[in-house]
Amino acid sequence: MKPLLSLVDINKYFGDVHVLKDISFTIEQGEFLTLLGPSGCGKTTLLRCIAGLETVNSGDILLGGRSIKGIAPNKRNVNTVFQNYALFPHLNVYDNVAYGPRVRKAMREVDLKKRVGDVLDLVQMVGYEKRLPHQLSGGQRQRIAIARALINEPAILLLDEPLGALDLKLRKHMQTELAHLQKKTGTTFVYVTHDQEEALNMSDRIVVIDGGEVQQLGTPRDIYNNPSNLFVTTFIGDRNIMQVEVVEIGDTHSKVKLGDHIVSIRSPHKQPLQAGKPAIMAIHMDKMRVSCDPVPNALQGEVRSIHYAGSQIRIELSVDHKAITVVEYQKTECECREGDLVFIAWEEHGAILLSLEESWLEGEI
Ligand code: ATP
Repeated sequence: MKPLLSLVDINKYFGDVHVLKDISFTIEQGEFLTLLGPSGCGKTTLLRCIAGLETVNSGDILLGGRSIKGIAPNKRNVNTVFQNYALFPHLNVYDNVAYGPRVRKAMREVDLKKRVGDVLDLVQMVGYEKRLPHQLSGGQRQRIAIARALINEPAILLLDEPLGALDLKLRKHMQTELAHLQKKTGTTFVYVTHDQEEALNMSDRIVVIDGGEVQQLGTPRDIYNNPSNLFVTTFIGDRNIMQVEVVEIGDTHSKVKLGDHIVSIRSPHKQPLQAGKPAIMAIHMDKMRVSCDPVPNALQGEVRSIHYAGSQIRIELSVDHKAITVVEYQKTECECREGDLVFIAWEEHGAILLSLEESWLEGEI
């Protein structure tokens, strides 16, 4: 099947600054795809290039197989929802939502009335037609901004941090609502966020971007469990990152040395590992377990401090003079005490071995 949207070798400069570097990937019809990366990595610029609000210096953008590079934003069959919603302050909810079809003279008022009713129903805002934007809460304004975009039935809805202005509770609620809405309408969503949890919760696939380059593209599960490089490893999930020495390389697992310990760790990627050379062992904090009794394939360390924080226990330890953190859930009491020498094991899939990239100096780890 032909992809809905193809980005082909996109490069974008602002003056001398190379903001997007050889970006290539495709987006399928009906997909919820998230562009995820730290502030300044180029997510918004890429979204704006797709919207036609920025021009690319080289490369092509194909919608349904046809280049849209030279086509004006309002002729592209894509709509954007911005973080600040950009509602017309002097128009009520009904007129805000009806704005697009009216400008395009797309339908008669009587048909428009039904259509506005349908999209307001979709975003659960029926009954608010006469309110002005300032008479709505942040979450309600956000829903109207989405309704105003959806009424145009765009091939793709572009969303630039649309939940950024909401408080945490409402943000979580809207995440679920947005994901449902996307599945219900079947509209293709391209969503920008710097919030990994939001991306992992909502997306079918995630494009992780850093420094204007795609670092990894995959399902949330794949990106969480199998980061392809050190950037993704440190950016997604809370992990302990430890420099180790490679002892023996296997197909799926390798043996590594950390201080006096030799342990086996999952090494599924085709990483350029070399026996005798340093590498990075990365383990999710919440996939590690602390035990007073010896357990196989474990590190040994000293308990430095124990913090009881609601549903979780955070245990700070020292392993080979390096600080690591273990987060345990579903326990009310830690079986060890500060100062104890303990064994630290982990769930196999929570750990991964990566080659040490040159840019990662010893001091950074
Ligand atoms: P954030 O999460 O903070 O919004 P982002 O990943 O969306 O960040 P962009 O807004 O795409 O990042 O910006 C990428 C880079 O391009 C940044 O270094 C930014 O300063 C620069 N930039 C963005 N817009 C312009 C512009 N109009 N002129 C010059 N530089 C720009």
